[in-house]
Amino acid sequence: MNLDLSPQELAFRDEVRAFLAASLTAELCEAGRHATSVFIDKRFSLAWQKILHVKGWVAPSWPVQYGGTGWSDMQRYIFAAECARAGAPSLAPMGLRMVGPCIMRYGTEEQKAQHLPRILSGEDYWCQGYSEPGAGSDLASLQLRATSDGDDYVLNGSKIWTTHAHWANRMFCLVRTRSEGKPQAGITFLLLDMAAPGIAVKPIITLAGEHEVNQVFFDDVRVPKTNRLGAENDGWTVAKYLLEFERGGGSGAGLAISLQRIRALAAAQASDDGLCLLDDESFATRLADAAIAVEAIQMTEHRVMSALSAGKNPGPASSLLKMHGTEAMQRLDELAIEAVGHYAVVDQPAARLPGSNVAPVGPREGLLAMARYLNNRAASIYGGSNEIQRDIVARLVLGL
Ligand SMILES: Cc1cc2nc3c(=O)[nH]c(=O)nc-3n(C[C@H](O)[C@H](O)[C@H](O)COP(=O)(O)OP(=O)(O)OC[C@H]3O[C@@H](n4cnc5c(N)ncnc54)[C@H](O)[C@@H]3O)c2cc1C
Repeated sequence: MNLDLSPQELAFRDEVRAFLAASLTAELCEAGRHATSVFIDKRFSLAWQKILHVKGWVAPSWPVQYGGTGWSDMQRYIFAAECARAGAPSLAPMGLRMVGPCIMRYGTEEQKAQHLPRILSGEDYWCQGYSEPGAGSDLASLQLRATSDGDDYVLNGSKIWTTHAHWANRMFCLVRTRSEGKPQAGITFLLLDMAAPGIAVKPIITLAGEHEVNQVFFDDVRVPKTNRLGAENDGWTVAKYLLEFERGGGSGAGLAISLQRIRALAAAQASDDGLCLLDDESFATRLADAAIAVEAIQMTEHRVMSALSAGKNPGPASSLLKMHGTEAMQRLDELAIEAVGHYAVVDQPAARLPGSNVAPVGPREGLLAMARYLNNRAASIYGGSNEIQRDIVARLVLGL
């Protein structure tokens, strides 16, 4: 985005740059720059989260009373852009961006006091238990049964595609507490301890060969009713509120950095006739299209940030952002593959290891381009597929 920063904003940008230069270790930068998915290894995201927490900068979009920074939209944008520019690792969104705002809105004072500080500090690492083998887009058909038994619910069933469940110590989870009537009206939102007896986490290995998602099985798992967020059978209200945050937080600044990286890579790929990939009209046109899309995403993101800082939920703008953000990401992945050419399919495990001294054959980007391409295919599916987002926009924005 073309920003005319005021002197105060320039001073803030310099303060952020100085902090990043002093705090980001080479290992953290490597983890950030070499990430092949938006979800990065917990070791690195948590290490960075702890540094930000000490500084008081871990949750810029939270209200000040709960530990937010009180920054303006522009300051938050500058911070996100500078983090992306410096190669900072991304933070896991499940606590900070997803369940945190729901606890603020629907939690009791005890729940807020128990969970919010631990989300900020990273002591609690959350995963999201929404999808089931028979319930994804049609989430309301979920079947994980929660039977009332005194002060507890007893859970039986399973959740699937649960990102980082193997690392999480907490899960926010949708369960069925009533089978009669409208499916949405029988769902309850629970906050679980992953160490509860009866929970088993089984890995699902993705196309890129990585362990990011899981299936989680529940066998007579007891959950105290005090762990319920909102009223019994009213979990759908909380679930929908959370999804707006899940969908609203793509990083336009990160896409802009990817764009720069691909442009530099394409400029360096000289062919025998002395031309580089940027001289190829088809490639250059698609790169320019992607650049326009990234610019538009940054504008929409600014709107979403304004809504959040005005204490509003993002509404359908978060669906637009989710669709356009993930589609731009996938277009950039395709351009990156084209830019590295056949190096994208040469497996170089020794050079790919974090911190490896083995020099890659071909450009370093060649080590990561295919894994990014494969992992990011999922981005237009998770968080509600893009077809579903288009449906939401058609109903809420176009009134169809
Ligand atoms: C990598 C990854 C990580 C994930 N992480 C999590 C997680 O942490 N927690 C969690 O709860 N879930 C997670 N998910 C699950 C994700 O939210 C679901 O995959 C998604 O909602 C789609 O559901 P489904 O897979 O059951 O596909 P389906 O709902 O069966 O959809 C299949 C296809 O049909 C299309 N479709 C379905 N209904 C409609 C319709 N009404 N109109 C038009 N098209 C339609 C979809 O767009 C899709 O293309 C993850 C998924 C992936 C791939």
